[in-house]
Amino acid sequence: MEAQDFRKYAHQLVDWMADYMENVEDYPVLPKVNPGDILKEIPTSPPEQKEEFDSIFADFKSTILPGMTHWESPNFMAYFPGNKSQPSVLAEMLTATLGAQCMQWLTSPSAAELEEQMMNWLRQMLGLPNTFTGVIQDTASTATLCAILTAREHKSDYKINDNGFSSSDRFVIYSSREIHSSIDKAVKIAGIGANNLRKIPVDERFALIPEQLEKAIQKDLENGLKPLCVVSAIGTTSSTAIDPIDAIADLCIKYDIWHHVDAAYAGTALIVPEMRWMSKGVEKADSFVFNPHKWMFTNFDCTAYFVKDPLVLVKTFTITPDYLKTSVDERVKNYRDWGIPLGRRFRALKLWFVIREMGVQGIREKIRNHIAYGQWLKREIENHPDFELMAPVPLNTLCFRYRPKSMKEDAIEAVNQRIIEEINKTGKLFFMQTTLNGTFCLRLAMGNTNLAKKHVENAWKLIQETADKMSH
Ligand SMILES: *Cc1c(COP(=O)(O)O)cnc(C)c1O
Repeated sequence: MEAQDFRKYAHQLVDWMADYMENVEDYPVLPKVNPGDILKEIPTSPPEQKEEFDSIFADFKSTILPGMTHWESPNFMAYFPGNKSQPSVLAEMLTATLGAQCMQWLTSPSAAELEEQMMNWLRQMLGLPNTFTGVIQDTASTATLCAILTAREHKSDYKINDNGFSSSDRFVIYSSREIHSSIDKAVKIAGIGANNLRKIPVDERFALIPEQLEKAIQKDLENGLKPLCVVSAIGTTSSTAIDPIDAIADLCIKYDIWHHVDAAYAGTALIVPEMRWMSKGVEKADSFVFNPHKWMFTNFDCTAYFVKDPLVLVKTFTITPDYLKTSVDERVKNYRDWGIPLGRRFRALKLWFVIREMGVQGIREKIRNHIAYGQWLKREIENHPDFELMAPVPLNTLCFRYRPKSMKEDAIEAVNQRIIEEINKTGKLFFMQTTLNGTFCLRLAMGNTNLAKKHVENAWKLIQETADKMSH
């Protein structure tokens, strides 16, 4: 591409981007496509000759866009949000333009040092202890895998890295029954074995029961197993349940177990001081993860991983072949040794842009509003005779179901399933289900960057109207 063409098309794209952000609500949140619809529009072989950019961009609009799920719509209330914001997108443009691969300090000193300071900023913003040191990872799944690998190496005196497992390395990991599937995955990848992940029962708030955890630990010790790590959650994925971090931390200290706190979604809420009850005792934990790429307006991917002892992390992952050695290695942070991939994107830049452009106060205000909307909807559901709340609502994720008094229990699940299908088909709202104690629930997860009260009101109205139609 010629330089003047790049300039022309870049301007054109920025205009398109600005329009998209302004009008994203006009798109159906969930695309109306069937499996294979998009695939058959894409040529089966690459073009031999160069094509005009105009035609590439036209195909983006006519072929790709109709098959996109619009995560940035405030009517997207499925999963957890994957937020972005204007400053974050602008930073990504610069990141892509610089094209730096920030594997170590020398490959971009600014990237390494900005990352160090952004982690310090985030630590202060969340009220995390200043004994924590942070590093950016691609996803919470990777960070949790790092935590388990680090715990494994620490506990085995770094021998498994060298020799592989021996027959005496019979480790056990603990989490609640409600924990995210990334923990199951990490346990498998780390060689611990899925059968050695103990899913501890939860209380009526879906939070881990510490007494049950202690019982499980004692039983494993009696059987000659080695308790390795407890993964607790600040905000489980189903219902944002808050595990008792303080009590779990005390057990981990008592039995010398690594304590990893998974706050992937809800960690962002710690920016609001009145929510810090959730993290009480976190200073005793060994590692903590949260995703600015979920709720903190920083586009995917950007995960903040904090550890109490970075040396243990680095000792687990360091590999320094001759071609990576530099003369400043003793004096700098080479983040390639702080995680799994060698290559690293310059992710700190978007955090810098977002935090500065919104200000901590601006971020705090948005999060506070999102929580207030969640609390408003919680009261609405509680006060509605035909709806039933299925879990506490500490934040802005709601699990509930339609259950008119006259309806038989065995009909309820199918009706709720149909409510989701009917509504998602309209493109006016996209939300999902979850299962709590074996019961099918509607699940609304709010928190989109541009969420306003009216979107929550519309969603609630749509759900009531659709439910009403179902039962007549
Ligand atoms: C989303 C989520 C994860 C996984 O996050 P990724 O960054 O997609 O790997 C892990 N734990 C919890 C509690 C989550 O909500």
